[in-house]
Amino acid sequence: MFALGRVDKGVNCSVVGCANKAVRSLSRSDIGSSGLSVGGEGRRAYLCHDHYKAWKKATKNSRSLERSRW
Ligand SMILES: [Zn+2]
Repeated sequence: MFALGRVDKGVNCSVVGCANKAVRSLSRSDIGSSGLSVGGEGRRAYLCHDHYKAWKKATKNSRSLERSRW
């Protein structure tokens, strides 16, 4: 588990086609499992408020799906 970090002002969302200001940074692998398409380089990716909400929703769904298989 990693801590969700606040993002300095001036960083843009890493999602392809999105130009909003980022509010959260996440590890790229965590975003990859959510189905969001992230551009750029490096291990960190940045999400704006809208995409952060979408990411949270997507990962919540996948977590509850895994749990329902048990
Ligand atoms: Zn975005």
